[in-house]
Amino acid sequence: MPPMNARPTPLELVKTDLVWDNSFYQLGKAFFTPLAPQPLSDPYWVGTSPAVAHLLRLDRGWLESDVLLQALSGNQPISGTQPLASVYSGHQFGQWAGQLGDGRAILLGQTNGLEVQLKGSGLTPYSRMGDGRAVLRSSIREFLCSEAMHALGIPTSRALCVTGSNDEVARESLETAAVVTRVAPSFIRFGHFEHFSARNQLSELTQLADYVMDRFYPDCRHAVGPDGNAYCALLQQVVARTAVMVAHWQAVGFCHGVMNTDNMSILGLTIDYGPFQFLDVYDPGHICNHSDRLGRYAFDRQPDIAHWNLFALAQALLPLIKDQAQALRALNTFKAIFDSSYQRLMGHKLGLTALDADIPHPCPLPAGEGVTARRALIDGILKLLAQDRVDYTIFWRRLSQAQASGNTEPVRDLFLDRPAFDAWMLSYQELSAHIDKGLQANLMLKTNPKYVLRNHLGENAIRAAKRGDYSGVASLLALLETPFDEHPDHEADAGFPPDWASQIEISCSS
Ligand code: AMP
Ligand code: MG
Repeated sequence: MPPMNARPTPLELVKTDLVWDNSFYQLGKAFFTPLAPQPLSDPYWVGTSPAVAHLLRLDRGWLESDVLLQALSGNQPISGTQPLASVYSGHQFGQWAGQLGDGRAILLGQTNGLEVQLKGSGLTPYSRMGDGRAVLRSSIREFLCSEAMHALGIPTSRALCVTGSNDEVARESLETAAVVTRVAPSFIRFGHFEHFSARNQLSELTQLADYVMDRFYPDCRHAVGPDGNAYCALLQQVVARTAVMVAHWQAVGFCHGVMNTDNMSILGLTIDYGPFQFLDVYDPGHICNHSDRLGRYAFDRQPDIAHWNLFALAQALLPLIKDQAQALRALNTFKAIFDSSYQRLMGHKLGLTALDADIPHPCPLPAGEGVTARRALIDGILKLLAQDRVDYTIFWRRLSQAQASGNTEPVRDLFLDRPAFDAWMLSYQELSAHIDKGLQANLMLKTNPKYVLRNHLGENAIRAAKRGDYSGVASLLALLETPFDEHPDHEADAGFPPDWASQIEISCSS
């Protein structure tokens, strides 16, 4: 339990009930700079996630304590932690950017197998031109989206809390500072590998690959056969996890916005939430990041960009894999893994899991024929959604409800080209004919969220938070933690975005 006292004296070690270690620290000085976070004046809680506290086995009372508030704002060292900023490099917008690193993040250490990192905690040797800080709005967005993605079943880093301060931070205008405490098994990025490879530091490169392999991909050690290089097996597994992650993004309509190689997790987790967006209308070419003038990270380019980034990782690992043909074979599996994952996820959205061998279903369809028909159905509806600029989330939810109630009018109303929709619906119902409607509707309602973190929902919570009202952050968190449930008091949050939503400009500025 947290101590009941008020504020601890500065630099007094905070003793939580967590047991810490830091295996990353043991990699040695080539990988990081040991460094304490910088203090934030008079911090206050902006948002907390009891679910993540539970994950860390942190007694919930800590999340209301002034002691932890100070510690997670960088004002108080935590007993047992070994804070550090790690060094990495990367490709940004397709160009080699050289050394980057944790310019505003401090890794405190690991507890219960999870790394705990403070983002926005001040200058580090890797801050370059930056100020080491993060603003309130982007911190709230990262906090909420991490938890929203987790609830949607998408691999992601998590977020324990956001603390804020009235300390000023200059962006396009003056804003205030905040710190997000984020949590993941590891925050190692493709860029960590690129860093040591580009500098020809092969011993560090090997050390890093061994570290990642031993901790997260132990099977790779047993790689056998003609492609039996353990580092190639590692690449293969990262290819697979990345493909699955991006398939989830495409299925749910999530646009990451800055898929630079330094923002790509070696564990296939969604990390570094910046100018992300959940699609409102289905526009395949949607660019959510206003700094992305050329649309490199447009929604429909994400799979190809992930593949491109994996090439950069493969290039970095080549000194260890040695055989270029072997590395290429691993890379070439991306498209098939992405495609099968995406088709499977879209099959779930349509309630046609019958076509998946991996999921038992009361009435399986014949595989080959069913798969082709399902693919045509998916292509067909995406084409119609794009043509009529239909809201992506609302379409899937209304389709689920149509299967539950038998009333197709609300979903049909979303389309301008009704005859085209009717024709599509006919083929959909034909393909669903042998499936129990109740089971199908049930599956669809658990697959197609009613609530996603649309830009305007985040924006409303941010505007209130800027006025000192954090209740919107808490209520949005609660909604996004159970996105498939009905929340009768929050019907409006499941509705069409208001007109002003399309004016929200989200850029790299954070
Ligand atoms: P991002 O685009 O947020 O992934 O950041 C790219 C690089 O810039 C990373 O090395 C970040 O740590 C660094 N960076 C971003 N914003 C800041 C900032 N305000 N201060 C210091 N470094 C930053
Ligand atoms: Mg980043």
